[in-house]
Amino acid sequence: SACGFFYIPTDKELAMKPLNHLTGYFTESVIRMMSRICNQAGGLNLAQGFPDFDAPEPMKQAAQKAIQDGYNQYAITFGQPCLRKAIAAKAKDYNGIECDPDTQITVTCGATEAMISCLKALINPGDEVIVFEPFYENYGPDSLLSGATPRYVTLHAPDWSFDPDELAEAFNDKTKAVVINTPNNPTGKVFSREELTRIAELCQKWDTYCIMDDIYEHILFDGAEHVAMATIDGMADRTLTINSVSKTYSATGWRIGWVIASPEVTQGVRKIHDFLTVGAPAPLQEAVVTALELPQSYYGELAARYEKARRFLYDVLDEQGFNPNLPKGAYYIMTDVAELMERFDVSDDFNFAKKLIELTGVASVPGSSFYAEPEKGSKQVRFCFCKKMETLEDAAQRLRKLSSL
Ligand code: PLP
Repeated sequence: SACGFFYIPTDKELAMKPLNHLTGYFTESVIRMMSRICNQAGGLNLAQGFPDFDAPEPMKQAAQKAIQDGYNQYAITFGQPCLRKAIAAKAKDYNGIECDPDTQITVTCGATEAMISCLKALINPGDEVIVFEPFYENYGPDSLLSGATPRYVTLHAPDWSFDPDELAEAFNDKTKAVVINTPNNPTGKVFSREELTRIAELCQKWDTYCIMDDIYEHILFDGAEHVAMATIDGMADRTLTINSVSKTYSATGWRIGWVIASPEVTQGVRKIHDFLTVGAPAPLQEAVVTALELPQSYYGELAARYEKARRFLYDVLDEQGFNPNLPKGAYYIMTDVAELMERFDVSDDFNFAKKLIELTGVASVPGSSFYAEPEKGSKQVRFCFCKKMETLEDAAQRLRKLSSL
């Protein structure tokens, strides 16, 4: 069964020796698999979170210029000085984080490599990492790849709040880090200042780091505020702040991200990053400086665009019986499809997602891929709305076919 990232081997597979203790026991990414299934079926991909509109023009022109100007060899492993300087300025202005670009910033190949580099830099065998569940699919395998034992704390629908006692119980003297993603994929939850303060207190009590994945920081709705953990009392040196250009600048293919951390932690992150990738793409690093210098109006327009898309897709899903949960941030909608599963006689989320492609051509992500125990997500699917309005209107027409079936 390919539900959830923990691969459940068949008896036949169990009888064979797995390649190793990691690849044998988790699946490939279900999100990315759904993209492939969708492409094969010629469907409309509301599964994987990437926009179908382009990155800002000045950024693309800056990339072309950087290539023409000869930025085509290895960059400094931990990031070009001009980019680290621009990141430090943005961190100060937007997040209120003060950092030294020379000793506290590492440019990585996307937030993906940033997360692995942070975990690898922090984890010793036997350490535990706390992850809020449901979680962005990579975090489970990321924890395992780094050698940590993940401990999951539940975010409860409909507001995706956590039980403070359950959180407190998850901490112990083996806890090395807590991973937080706010605004959150897949739930759209935006962690409040109070929630972050509670987590911060526990981090300090148990001498633990906090890894913040802030890549949706500009995609906020209904007046929600993004709070940077590094600005909470006592957390500046304990927080590793991850970001990337993928979501803010609609450039998921560029593979440029970064980590801001204390000088001591940064030394560790840089060592891991150096040996993992040598460095992020040099010409694109130059061009990201241009992205970071876009006028403030860009961010307001981005949020407004997504607000319209969010409302549109939410209404269609609601009308078609998906029981959608209205997100406060990021660009995903989690749905509860228990009733639709019964109506279309499918047994789990994976088969539901496949049936939905068959019936409507619309691809979604099975909910189980966001949980360590697949059953917990077996009645959910996630849709993304990071698409042009025409694409979402096409999706609406396709989904409306369900009414007549
Ligand atoms: N973190 C979260 C929470 C995401 O949702 C994604 C992509 O969907 C990533 C990281 C990947 O980011 P990047 O493209 O910068 O590697």
